[in-house]
Amino acid sequence: MSELLNLEKLFGSHVFNDRVMKERLPKETYQGLRKTIEQSAPLTLEVANVVANAMKDWAIEHGATHYTHWFQPLTGSTAEKHDSFISPTDDGGVILEFSGKQLIKGEPDASSFPSGGLRSTFEARGYTAWDCTSPAFLKEDAVGNVTLTIPTAFCSYTGEALDKKTPLLRSMEAINKQALRVLRALGNKTSKRVTATVGPEQEYFLIDKAYYDERTDLITSGRTLFGAPAPKGQELEDQYFGAIKDRISAFMKDLDTELWKMGISAKTKHNEVAPAQFEMAPIFTTVNIAVDHNQLVMETMQKVALRHDLVCLLHEKPFAGVNGSGKHNNWSLATDDGQNLLEPGKTPHDNEQFLVFLAAVLTAVDTHADLLRTGAANPGNDLRLGANEAPPAIISVFMGEELTDILMALGKGQKAASKGEHYLNIGADSLPSLPKDNTDRNRTSPFAFTGNKFEFRMVPASASIAGPNLILNVIVAEALDATATRLEKAKNINAEAASIIKEAVNKHSRVIFNGNNYSPEWVAEAKKRGIPNITSTVEALKTMVSEKAIALFEKYKVLTEGELHSRYDIYLEHYVKVINIEAQAAIYMVKRQFIPSVIQYTGELAATIRELKAAVTPAPVQKAQLAEVSKLLASASKKLDTLAAALKKAQGVGAVEAKAKAYRDSVFPAQLALRADIDALETILPSDLWPVPTYAEMLFKL
Ligand code: ADP
Ligand code: MG
Repeated sequence: MSELLNLEKLFGSHVFNDRVMKERLPKETYQGLRKTIEQSAPLTLEVANVVANAMKDWAIEHGATHYTHWFQPLTGSTAEKHDSFISPTDDGGVILEFSGKQLIKGEPDASSFPSGGLRSTFEARGYTAWDCTSPAFLKEDAVGNVTLTIPTAFCSYTGEALDKKTPLLRSMEAINKQALRVLRALGNKTSKRVTATVGPEQEYFLIDKAYYDERTDLITSGRTLFGAPAPKGQELEDQYFGAIKDRISAFMKDLDTELWKMGISAKTKHNEVAPAQFEMAPIFTTVNIAVDHNQLVMETMQKVALRHDLVCLLHEKPFAGVNGSGKHNNWSLATDDGQNLLEPGKTPHDNEQFLVFLAAVLTAVDTHADLLRTGAANPGNDLRLGANEAPPAIISVFMGEELTDILMALGKGQKAASKGEHYLNIGADSLPSLPKDNTDRNRTSPFAFTGNKFEFRMVPASASIAGPNLILNVIVAEALDATATRLEKAKNINAEAASIIKEAVNKHSRVIFNGNNYSPEWVAEAKKRGIPNITSTVEALKTMVSEKAIALFEKYKVLTEGELHSRYDIYLEHYVKVINIEAQAAIYMVKRQFIPSVIQYTGELAATIRELKAAVTPAPVQKAQLAEVSKLLASASKKLDTLAAALKKAQGVGAVEAKAKAYRDSVFPAQLALRADIDALETILPSDLWPVPTYAEMLFKL
């Protein structure tokens, strides 16, 4: 019982949340702020001043000395610059100050953040603007520094988005507007706001810090560029949901505590499929808060791991041959009065509403499968999509057998038959009964309907979830827009809704696939159905600047053509930089660690052979070993040269698109080829001569 009370007190204790605001703000100020939060009403400086002061007092009472505008530049991580509250007085002392102006707007020196040409360096000003819809909180580090952290959006002097949050907030407006139009047309008079809700399940690896420190590849690239498979992989499936070891459990306990303090509802934790792989899932919340929280989750995981002499790897594929890490991005739509719009309802009316929204998602995903794929593109995911357990690069929707049957029947204009007790018996005559619980889980689908939400499983583990969610919001907003326009004009709403659903099924059901997404047959089948299979980041990113995407983003005022082009350039450059670092790290390790070790071993073998010869004993085994190692060494040395040459050539390419292709088509394969020889050498050399920790050590000695 005392545990329970403590947890209740601990949860959100570092958040300037609604409870604190109600307690500390004068009633009018509180109501003014709520209006801004809920209805996007403009914020007056008067309100901001009062809020800032209350925030400062609260933060100082909790030990804070500094505040920061926390933002999410296009690097994919977060940025912060700390300012203390102190302001000098005439008599040599200080007072602590924090004004409404300081709360609302910041001006970090932005010249070092990527802008993709939106802002020249001499005009480096960027602004951070308070996002009052995501609560301010306190960040506390292990040495006891406490900082009042204010979630902000980051844009240029001329108002262009330079971050991940700005377009996300714009996409929330778009989907709110279109979803409300549909609800109104269907007769809903009470809901005032529709928001996307998101619950991201975060996968990660933990390894001992001592091993990490020994590996240049992990330090520079977050993944192993070399490494022969361990004698044991994940084939026994004994890690998944297995008992959690004490050392890991101690880490997880600390992690939970830190997250709970910041109001992040860490709910589920368990061992994942690969050895040394784990998962944490929070309870879902409004999408922009979920995005902020996920950034904090990733940051906190890395910080807390170090306290336990562990390193948390968020890379999508840190180890070859075992599962990689992703994020299952659970997405749905909710009204302010508590309805989940993707919940199959209990009344015919809810049911119609559910099917209309379901049809919109189906339409959106089929129309913009390529764009959705872009939302999951990063260099790490290129190693994962289609590999062990990961969803393939083809976007398809899992609906489950029962829901698919219903949709197909509706597509033919038939009454869908009930299959008995699996279905809610709602007794409507024009609308079908719906499955009660969609338990038929297909773990291979990249985009699966799981009962009352869609689970987008392609999302990379290390990336911000802002991108995939803003894409989901805007593509579904477009489908809902078309639906609303038809419903608003219709004389018979039910008939029109039925024909909207029917048309959506007939036009877009090709994207539904309930089978095994990992099978080669699906790749062929998807091609026949005309569903795109975009296998690399370089191609996937291109979709962002297609005419179709530009028109979509501009129509819903989420990103302008200029902003899209700047993002495209930044992400391509990022791809180039990542592959460049990997190649450089590979060359470094081969030249300075692997080849010297192999040469040492061949020397030792040669000496042994000489000595044995002197003793007049033939040494066939040693000779054979020397020949094999020497052959691999010669091959590795040649491949090293090939990689170095490919790298040099790619570095010399000017235009970013051609450069990215050079890295993908020549640098990356050259590095992979080199790896093959080095990994083969690893299996031959004595373990005490191998210069870096092995997969067996990293994955199993925890
Ligand atoms: P799984 O079997 O995939 O782990 P869970 O039921 O545990 O499924 O849910 C996974 C995630 O989905 C959790 O973060 C949960 O909060 C989230 N989730 C549940 N309902 C919704 C919803 N309506 N919108 C968004 N996310 C949701
Ligand atoms: Mg899941």
